[in-house]
Amino acid sequence: MTEREKLRWQEAEIVAVEAITERVKSFRFRVDFAGRFRPGQHVDVRLTAPDGYQAQRSYSIASAPDASGTIELMIERLDEGEVSGFFASVAEIGDRIELRGPIGGSFVWDESEGGPLLLVGGGSGVVPLLAMLRHRSVAAPQIPALLVYSARNRAEVIVRDELEASARDDSGFSLMLVLTREAAGRRIDRTRIDAALGQIGTPAHAFVCGSNPFVSAASNLLLDAGVAPASIRTERFGG
Ligand SMILES: Cc1cc2nc3c(=O)[nH]c(=O)nc-3n(C[C@H](O)[C@H](O)[C@H](O)COP(=O)(O)OP(=O)(O)OC[C@H]3O[C@@H](n4cnc5c(N)ncnc54)[C@H](O)[C@@H]3O)c2cc1C
Repeated sequence: MTEREKLRWQEAEIVAVEAITERVKSFRFRVDFAGRFRPGQHVDVRLTAPDGYQAQRSYSIASAPDASGTIELMIERLDEGEVSGFFASVAEIGDRIELRGPIGGSFVWDESEGGPLLLVGGGSGVVPLLAMLRHRSVAAPQIPALLVYSARNRAEVIVRDELEASARDDSGFSLMLVLTREAAGRRIDRTRIDAALGQIGTPAHAFVCGSNPFVSAASNLLLDAGVAPASIRTERFGG
């Protein structure tokens, strides 16, 4: 039996819902492991239709471990998406949803791992990186961290205010937004990676998360720029 199968499904109540961008909503769930997960981990969510049909998907935890008794998930609505569509249009406060976690053993970071930390996220792939950054700002703000975050435009940047405020107020944290469909519109390229590495130095840990093509492209750029393969960890959201 795998670690995942050993985890118990629990009915988790939605206690808060908030629109984050036009396509992304935040959901706070009351769970019994809120203080006991590592930033970067995810949960499985399972929906069951009245006829017994089930759909199961993974969602990264966006919040840092804390004593609130809750975790935050951020779910991006995909056109025709079965589970994300349910969360975009149907789920509301008070609903009880089947969920199990925390899951994931390698795409995790906490202060015991040290830094510097280079985080590279595409779209909703920023979600597990947010958990790492939120935890770092409370537990180890002295550890240098840099987030390279690719989004289509400024309106689609998840928690932009929070990230920009951290970049302004936290001298150990830097933010590089790469907007692919705004102004000149460009993707993460070697110049950006070189600029990030010039700022953060040699990262002890590089975490890359997003769609399959995004993760492949970004991790190849890191390797080409000389980042040690053993220090790079990736998480793929599919797509
Ligand atoms: C470890 C992990 C963590 C993740 N964390 C997050 C997270 O934090 N936030 C997040 O938003 N996502 C996350 N994901 C992705 C998530 O698990 C789902 O894959 C995502 O929400 C899409 O699920 P869905 O049921 O809405 O789409 P699905 O129904 O599975 O559809 C997937 C894709 O196929 C397309 N599609 C579906 N039906 C059709 C059709 N008939 N014709 C043409 N195209 C179609 C949809 O448009 C969509 O693009 C994570 C994935 C993994 C593996």
